[in-house]
Amino acid sequence: MEVCVLASGSKGNCIYVAGGGTALLVDAGLSAREMVARLQAAGIAPESIQAVLFTHDHVDHYRGIEVFRRKFPVRLFANEGTAAGIEQSCPKLASEWEIFETSSSFEIGGLHVEAFTVPHDAADPVGFVFDDGAARLCLATDLGQATPLIRAKLAQCHAAILESNHDYDMLMQSERPWPLKTRIAGRSGHLSNEDAAALICAALSEQLHTLWLAHLSEECNTPALALNTMRQALRAAGREDVRIEVMSQTRVSARLVF
Ligand SMILES: [Zn+2]
Ligand SMILES: [Zn+2]
Repeated sequence: MEVCVLASGSKGNCIYVAGGGTALLVDAGLSAREMVARLQAAGIAPESIQAVLFTHDHVDHYRGIEVFRRKFPVRLFANEGTAAGIEQSCPKLASEWEIFETSSSFEIGGLHVEAFTVPHDAADPVGFVFDDGAARLCLATDLGQATPLIRAKLAQCHAAILESNHDYDMLMQSERPWPLKTRIAGRSGHLSNEDAAALICAALSEQLHTLWLAHLSEECNTPALALNTMRQALRAAGREDVRIEVMSQTRVSARLVF
């Protein structure tokens, strides 16, 4: 399996996943031009993308899809609630969807995909597990709290892309209005660094080797804080061997094959 994070954060999310002969994007939250530029910067031909899967209907996860799809005729996958939400902003995508059920699994070419529910303030938000027969990747980027289901999905995987959105103190000390602070920190908001570290430690399995920290807040977090919080937690759990990468809003990640 191969992963490249093109962008992660509240200004746009887009993650490249390839395995089993299938190349796809999870979310399309950058402008189409930016997605093409970042794919090319990573050495990935945009024409090779066969499908786009959506986690939920927040604009930072679908901003560029209508224009991107005009040029590249990708298959579109979402659950009913997410498709309906995206369609309100992108009416040209109506009737173009391949709808999956939350809590179901399906194949896209040789890649097995499981969609599972996560708590977040969108219509029907999901995370995914991808399995190409040799490796499993768990992706969960917008979630307000850990659940037993998310722990179980993480525990099955060799690699994970997990939200580490904010430092709780930085969020509370920020200039943000109180309702926004409580939304972000709430059960349907975003996972803090501490929450992400606790979740990973509760879901630790021997096969986990790589962890990407995703959807970092630019105002209420720093890459060093997110990294150190996770590193300390994994060290305390005796798992300094797990590779940790921090994803960026502005920078394309390295392509990792595992
Ligand atoms: Zn988001
Ligand atoms: Zn969201």
